[in-house]
Amino acid sequence: MSKYDKLKPDFSKGLLTVILQHYTNKEIRMVGYMNEEAFELTKQEEVAWFYSRSKERLWKKGESSGNVQYVKDMYLDCDQDALLVMVDPAGPTCHTGTDSCFNLDSSFTLKDIEATIQNRAASSDNDSYTNYLLSKGIDKIAKKFGEEAFEVVIGAKNKDKEEITNEAADVLYHLGVLLHHSGVSVSEVESVLANRHKKQNNFKGERKDVQEW
Ligand code: AMP
Ligand code: ZN
Ligand code: ZN
Ligand code: ZN
Repeated sequence: MSKYDKLKPDFSKGLLTVILQHYTNKEIRMVGYMNEEAFELTKQEEVAWFYSRSKERLWKKGESSGNVQYVKDMYLDCDQDALLVMVDPAGPTCHTGTDSCFNLDSSFTLKDIEATIQNRAASSDNDSYTNYLLSKGIDKIAKKFGEEAFEVVIGAKNKDKEEITNEAADVLYHLGVLLHHSGVSVSEVESVLANRHKKQNNFKGERKDVQEW
């Protein structure tokens, strides 16, 4: 029994094309292939198994490097011949040592800020500015957030793009600390945005005066 038993891949045309994607930052990590056995092993062990076309054998990702890819979720595509696997990687996914097999431009999202803050808090590292802020409490955190927001305002008045960019980064980081301290997740904030976006799109058909953003 596995929570993935309802997934019925179509192997009639050959191997299943598999995309590995990081479950939090959504980075595409690699593309590989599974035969039925690799798929069954992946379901049972909840780590990614593949069928290597060059070696012509089953292959557990990380079997020699230790960089196993823990499965957090799986989705089949519309005609069941491709599988999207959301993973929590134990290490780099590419055998060359890079996180992804694709040479992606580096990205650092609000969710990455959230994960970093969670790591700092869990480490109770005394040299960490994040832990300093968290220990001071919400008044200090909120005050810092407000100051950074005001610095964006000043940058905007100065028409200084570099100043705006740097201060906006400070705003996002301090927002991350504030959300963490308040027990609000970035996902919760994103769902509010997604719902508003949906409503906005529904309105668009009926009203022309609705604000777009
Ligand atoms: P690993 O599964 O990480 O222990 O790596 C074992 C071997 O599998 C490597 O030497 C490569 O031949 C192959 N391999 C590992 N990761 C990848 C990948 N992302 N794409 C293609 N081949 C890989
Ligand atoms: Zn398909
Ligand atoms: Zn690779
Ligand atoms: Zn600042």
